[in-house]
Amino acid sequence: MKKTLLLLSLVAAPALAGEGKWTPQQVLELDPAWLKAQGLQVPPKRLWDPKRGTGLLAGTVNVGGCSGAFIAESGLIITNHHCVFSIIQEHSSPKKDLITDGFLAKGREQELPGKGSRVQVPRAFTDVTKEMLAAVPAGADDLARYKALDRKEKELVAECEKRPATRCKVASFEGGLQFVLQESVELADVRLVYAPPNAVGEYGGEEDNWMWPRHTGDFSIIRAYTAPDGASAAYNSQNVPYKAEFFFPLATEGVKPDDFVMVLGYPGITYRALLAEEMAERQARSYPRVIDVYGELIRIMEEEGAKDPAGKIAVASHLKGLHNRYKNLGGQLAGLKRGRIVEKQREAEAAVATWAEKRKEYQGAMKARAELLALQAEKSKAFEREFLLDTVRGAVKGPALAVQVARLSQERAKPDLERRPEFMDRELARLKEKLEREQKNLFAPADKRMLLALVRRAQGLGEGERIAAIDKTFGRTYAEKDVATKIDALYAATQVLDLAERQKMAGETEAQLRARKDPLLDFGFELATEVVALDEQRDRRAGASVRLLPEWRRAVLGHAGKPVAPDANGTLRVSFAKVKGYTPRDGAFYTPQTTLAGVVEKHTGQEPFDVPDKVLSAAEARRYGPWLDKRLKDVPVAFLADADTTGGNSGSPTVNGKGQLVGVNFDRVWENVANDFGYNPDVARNINVDVRYVLWLLDQVEDADGLLRELGVRKGPKAEERR
Ligand code: GLU
Repeated sequence: MKKTLLLLSLVAAPALAGEGKWTPQQVLELDPAWLKAQGLQVPPKRLWDPKRGTGLLAGTVNVGGCSGAFIAESGLIITNHHCVFSIIQEHSSPKKDLITDGFLAKGREQELPGKGSRVQVPRAFTDVTKEMLAAVPAGADDLARYKALDRKEKELVAECEKRPATRCKVASFEGGLQFVLQESVELADVRLVYAPPNAVGEYGGEEDNWMWPRHTGDFSIIRAYTAPDGASAAYNSQNVPYKAEFFFPLATEGVKPDDFVMVLGYPGITYRALLAEEMAERQARSYPRVIDVYGELIRIMEEEGAKDPAGKIAVASHLKGLHNRYKNLGGQLAGLKRGRIVEKQREAEAAVATWAEKRKEYQGAMKARAELLALQAEKSKAFEREFLLDTVRGAVKGPALAVQVARLSQERAKPDLERRPEFMDRELARLKEKLEREQKNLFAPADKRMLLALVRRAQGLGEGERIAAIDKTFGRTYAEKDVATKIDALYAATQVLDLAERQKMAGETEAQLRARKDPLLDFGFELATEVVALDEQRDRRAGASVRLLPEWRRAVLGHAGKPVAPDANGTLRVSFAKVKGYTPRDGAFYTPQTTLAGVVEKHTGQEPFDVPDKVLSAAEARRYGPWLDKRLKDVPVAFLADADTTGGNSGSPTVNGKGQLVGVNFDRVWENVANDFGYNPDVARNINVDVRYVLWLLDQVEDADGLLRELGVRKGPKAEERR
């Protein structure tokens, strides 16, 4: 990181060994002796060279919201199966079902390009706190503050993206105590090299999701390509593999319990800096409400999908996402309760307050905390209405597409820097891809019933919470038949759900769209009015938060007197950990490794426990090859570590002290889902695919000769010579 403002000035060790998603700059501020004692064998400077603003950590890439890692100089990237599922799906048909069968490119010419797939390789991190804060005019109110910061951010990003094939963003740390401009190279030609069969990559399905013991081979291998001169370019058969400066060689010896590992990646969002009251609100109110609504939507999609095979496919991906979130929220609630997370936060907060009260320089923090609590009360009051509005325009495809098209026409009429970020020119290609991609997710019967369910809920809102667009379109009181008839009419007469028409709409002005007199689109415009007002409310709250939260966090950090890793914000982080089992409940202990024997043991022949024949026969014949773990007397499949991870860490490389890949992170255990709110060393466990399971599959099951050679794993005679 260049000229980075230090979040802490002490060279010190963190409070808990496994806790903390450290920024690259912070790694250099941690005590090197502590890092060495943990098991880091390479000098911290090899992880991150502050002068160059890069290092081994930059072998970790962003794969569309997931993480991934270069594992060879020739652009090979390992990530999770679920992270590249859309490429697998794109090339699948009932005749050539890559989802079920998996895929192995026998040569480079067979690798499969992923439409719209992109990979971002970090290039530089620059502290821009001064520039950001200087942009706020004196005396600005909260909305003006937010707008000034938003404007500055857009200007910094525009300047940064003048370099070709560059993608930039400004990330805020500790609520706005620090701002960092992250610059990445975006590679736009990404191809599938290997995907295991779904019954390996998603073994155990929803039943095993967020659980241990786990036997899922949730990994895939892709390759990034560039133009022959090394410049980033869209797919072209003349393109050549990207030359990776940093990559993680595979550690063929794997790991054993108590080994040191690091998990590198792009964790998305965590909530540890929330005040106890804010956490309590989620626990008592908002999460149970979300669970209730998502539960209803899941039921509808399952029931409607069961009536129609094509519908079942159409809702599959949406349903998978909702299930994942639904189960996650259940885990959050269970973990909040069991870990007494809110109570602990309350105690921690009280300790900070007592400490800060006595110190003149922290009086602002006390005032800030009181105002943050008032802000929370305001958000809490508005939650029900805002959540329903978000769900209508987010989870129900018809209204969602209508609002997108409507908002696009309104925003495109403005100069680029004045638009909402998601409608700026730099986003338009992505937005159009999304409008197209959604076509395969459309299933009107499910969509209509979901809208009906949400309208019923919205019509039950109290005065002062009403959603005017719903009242206007469906009336103020719920009468099922009446609302259902109106919804039928919207869907029967609309062209929003027709791909070609929707693509045309994406290029039309607001006047042209309104002249269409398309009823679903008109409902979209009504909703858009509410969305614009809500966005402004949220901007104002964000402006208040960025005024208040840094004050409070300064006191929290001062009181800690030790390094504190900031909440996740989608930027590059590293977590230092050990391979470790845990006690999920009284009287039970979970060992940290699973094996092939467990894969076979779970096999029932029924989804989601239906091991493919070629895998089953190799396992049953104990054809282990060199991947046998002598201690386990079997091939290891997955392992646990106490790394500090969250969503977005999907596909993160898990590497040893030498910087070699020992696994790929793909999940957390049930007891640890609530670590988003606080790290608990007793149950903080992330789940990784063991690199030896990856190698066993490639070697003993797939005989992926070329790939294994490229990975430097297979030497000796080539496959054809061995036969
Ligand atoms: N498996 C998780 C998910 O699907 C990602 C990793 C995590 O959250 O720990 O969101």
